[in-house]
Amino acid sequence: MSASEHTPLRGSCLCGGVRFEVAEPFDRVGACHCESCKKISGGPGTVSGRARTDAIRILAGEELLTTYQPEDGSAKTFCSRCGTNLFGGGWPESPLTPVRLPTLDEPFEGTLDVHMYVRSLAPWEELPEDGVPRYDERAP
Ligand SMILES: [Zn+2]
Ligand SMILES: [Zn+2]
Repeated sequence: MSASEHTPLRGSCLCGGVRFEVAEPFDRVGACHCESCKKISGGPGTVSGRARTDAIRILAGEELLTTYQPEDGSAKTFCSRCGTNLFGGGWPESPLTPVRLPTLDEPFEGTLDVHMYVRSLAPWEELPEDGVPRYDERAP
């Protein structure tokens, strides 16, 4: 699907202060099971659709966005009022940005393309037999 035929995806944080849109389809949807994603999500990890950073437009709440750079891994961006994790991958400096799928306002209809950092699966975490490629660390 070309970018011109694509209806922009809209997303927002829990408090509604931050609103954004993604003007192009995701090129990959990945579940990350790394330690950082567990911490920031409060769950088994993050699930993100990857888009070109230039295709992401902040519609409201730019002043609420805070980016945290951990010692290891890429910077994560969240709403400083409600804590919703919005973007990973070093947004806005990086060419590509993982957008957290649960922040989309309409349920995402696609499926996963990759499981990443499965070496960091928690003892209480079990991957489904979904046939999706798995990588110990980041996906190529
Ligand atoms: Zn918020
Ligand atoms: Zn991760």
